[in-house]
Amino acid sequence: MPRPDPVKLSGGCQCGAVRFVLEGQPHWVAHCHCSLCRKQTSAPYATWISLPADAVAFSKGEPAIWEDKPDRQRGFCSRCGTQLLGKTPKYPGEVHVLVGALDEPSAVTPQVHSYFADALDWVHPSDGLRRFATTSKEGPPLD
Ligand SMILES: [Zn+2]
Ligand SMILES: [Zn+2]
Repeated sequence: MPRPDPVKLSGGCQCGAVRFVLEGQPHWVAHCHCSLCRKQTSAPYATWISLPADAVAFSKGEPAIWEDKPDRQRGFCSRCGTQLLGKTPKYPGEVHVLVGALDEPSAVTPQVHSYFADALDWVHPSDGLRRFATTSKEGPPLD
């Protein structure tokens, strides 16, 4: 999968207490249909942009951190509850930011559907993107 173009983007939570800037070369942009992302966001699936940790800087406030598994961090605004980011030992050195938290989410383009084996029965994307049972690193596409 080719790496996305370099980005310089801003974003933040709904109430504005936490603001961030992303500047650097993303690893990937992906929809994730796993049950943990679904629960975290209370949405059918989540769309993430992966960046090197040093490409993510907070310009206002900082996210509260909750670990859903040891060392696997979920970052959110402690005031308004907006989910913002994730870090996991499975992807060392990466920060995953929820694209919906960006000021201009359309500025990035999703590349794949990940964990599509866990997608809800009524989710039928017509975007033509490849669908993987888990991730593109862990097996061939489903279609
Ligand atoms: Zn907030
Ligand atoms: Zn997920």
